[in-house]
Amino acid sequence: MARLRVLLPLPLAGAYDYRVPAGWDVPPVGSFVVVPLSGRQLYGVVWDGEADPDLPERRLRDIAEVLPVPPMTASLRRFVEWVAAYTLSPPGAVLRMAMSSPSALEPPAQKAGWRLSAAGQRAARGEGRLTEARRRVLDAMEPGEVYGGAALAAEAGVSAGVVRGMADAGLLESALLPAGADFPRPDPAHPGPALGPEQRAAAAALREAAAARAFGVTLLTGVTGSGKTEVYLDAVAECLEQGRQALVLLPEIALSTQWLERFERRFGTPPALWHSELGSRLRRDTWRAVAEGRAPVLVGARSALFLPFPDLGLIIVDEEHETAFKQEEGVIYNARDMAVVRARLAGAACVLVSATPSLETLTNAETGRYAALHLPTRHGSAGLPDVAVIDQRRTPPERGRFLSPPLVEAVRETLAAGQQAMLFLNRRGYAPLTLCRSCGHRMRCPNCTAWLVEHRVRRTLQCHHCGHAEPIPESCPECAAEGSLTPLGPGVERVQEEAALLFPEARRLVMASDTIPGPAAAAEAARAIAAREVDLIIGTQIVAKGWHFPHLTLVGVVDADLGLAGGDLRAAERTVQLLHQVAGRAGRAEAPGRVLLQSWNPGHPVLEALVSGDLDSFMQAEAESRRPGHWPPFGRLAALIVSAEDEREADRAARDLGLTAPRAEGVEVLGPAPAPLALLRGRHRRRLLLKARRDVAVQPLLREWLSRAGVPAGVRVQVDVDPVSF
Ligand code: ADP
Ligand code: ZN
Repeated sequence: MARLRVLLPLPLAGAYDYRVPAGWDVPPVGSFVVVPLSGRQLYGVVWDGEADPDLPERRLRDIAEVLPVPPMTASLRRFVEWVAAYTLSPPGAVLRMAMSSPSALEPPAQKAGWRLSAAGQRAARGEGRLTEARRRVLDAMEPGEVYGGAALAAEAGVSAGVVRGMADAGLLESALLPAGADFPRPDPAHPGPALGPEQRAAAAALREAAAARAFGVTLLTGVTGSGKTEVYLDAVAECLEQGRQALVLLPEIALSTQWLERFERRFGTPPALWHSELGSRLRRDTWRAVAEGRAPVLVGARSALFLPFPDLGLIIVDEEHETAFKQEEGVIYNARDMAVVRARLAGAACVLVSATPSLETLTNAETGRYAALHLPTRHGSAGLPDVAVIDQRRTPPERGRFLSPPLVEAVRETLAAGQQAMLFLNRRGYAPLTLCRSCGHRMRCPNCTAWLVEHRVRRTLQCHHCGHAEPIPESCPECAAEGSLTPLGPGVERVQEEAALLFPEARRLVMASDTIPGPAAAAEAARAIAAREVDLIIGTQIVAKGWHFPHLTLVGVVDADLGLAGGDLRAAERTVQLLHQVAGRAGRAEAPGRVLLQSWNPGHPVLEALVSGDLDSFMQAEAESRRPGHWPPFGRLAALIVSAEDEREADRAARDLGLTAPRAEGVEVLGPAPAPLALLRGRHRRRLLLKARRDVAVQPLLREWLSRAGVPAGVRVQVDVDPVSF
């Protein structure tokens, strides 16, 4: 009897062998199947390779079912294997990301819709009197066709109540909608905005790349507001004309309502979406629509890379420098890098987009591995904002305050001119540290190396790493002094409090992950700001991403030095990227924009780069500082995080691992040292860093190292290839 290999979505070493029951056709490689495993029924995928012919017949079980979904393509199977090998993860753990929920694999449930009844068909031929709204609905329908209620109302431009009323009146009868027929099809011929000359040139190059039907990577850069989105949407149109699927990755898809509106203006329909907040039914329908080629464009978070596109032609990674593309749990991978791999395996074009590309990507463009396109000016008449530093040493804020007089003055002027202002501080909550004035005790998380952050609105102290929360104590837990606990330093809530005192008239909006938790709140915030119902926006890093607020002319950065402290080699690069993005929110329409950076260290190269606007020179200097030590992107890096609940056990395991570290030409192992966040969720963490020259393949070294090391029970070793901080 025929045998085949089935990969299961579990962290197992490889595929398992199964038997095809007598009389069945052998399902093709890639088929989704149900198989038994130790008393359970599991979904899996028929994998490549030969089953072991020597395995005795009695050890083999039969596959139970072949599911009615298109088989997983060879290019996605290769991708699963590639990611597993690169990240040193079990292939099944990666497959799991490509499987979605089991229910997506079941035959789709059919949904109820409407079609014309006999009476409706007579009315459509003009018999009897009809209201204008009902007439429009009948005009929108073909006899015999089934329509979803909402889609029908939208098509006819009437309310859903009109459709229901017509059903009650017997003009429509219910019928089953063909499964999945209601996924939107973006229309590439739908007219988009007229592109400016620079945009046209870049769009033509991207169209050519998308039409080539071959792998290639292009870096699209351009100042904030230069219209990069419209340019790459043109490449999406080309991909659609080629009849292939396009995938757009955004770092904060759930908050990207403005982006979605633009997509809809460009293509006449919204795209299919993929992110963690999709409901389970939509998730299932979307997965299936992608697998069946019914979702021509999908916009998603990093996990969308693992969707089963049958013929992927284009991948766009917008804001490619964003650390949100890095998944830090489970299979640890960077979606930006894996997008390039996915595109290569699919024979697709890949476009990386950013106003402030990562050093990795810039280096790839410089060496010619990636093509590069640049938009040098803002779209329309807008110029770039004017950036200046406020030297806090010379004009410090008042005691206990955080906004210096020049910044307060600038906000006042802006508001008086009827324009909008934004205060940016990348810190949630009220105060990042709570200190006892009597004994000096600092409130820290019991589970993590982190201070507890006061959230005054919720009256709690919270850990931003493990979610621990406790009420703000009345007295110091150390010395019992009453009322001695004092908040130190600002978070956005505290800036908002100060703004309320300084600008009581201004209508203020705080934009942080606790006030803007999802798409609905983001859409409402965008609407209120566009409608000028808000004068002053106070926000964390969520205000930095992609927003286009035409009436916003002033951005004040409350603490431009934040993020530069600490030993992370990549801190300067990340700070420049973040602050440049925030600054880019100012002056995007006719009125010129202004950016003020409050700093205690105004001579810092990061601030000088932001003021001069010469980010290229800054990145060059960054590159030169990393080259001699073979730091990324001039060398390879992998972190091993050793963790245990017991601190001594973590130390011992890390030390033992260090003793068996690989010794090879061009390879160096640093540590063990306390990991960033040496205590996280109750586990003590130590880190070993393997640094290698670019020409060294680190995965075989790591694999061999880990196979040699005996890891005691209770100790976990996580491999992070290309760590974000180092
Ligand atoms: P970037 O992504 O480079 O920061 P955007 O693509 O967000 O820039 O464009 C900035 C603003 O200019 C957006 O509101 C966009 O709709 C508008 N815009 C860009 N290009 C055009 C165009 N060719 N015609 C009309 N509006 C445009
Ligand atoms: Zn914690």
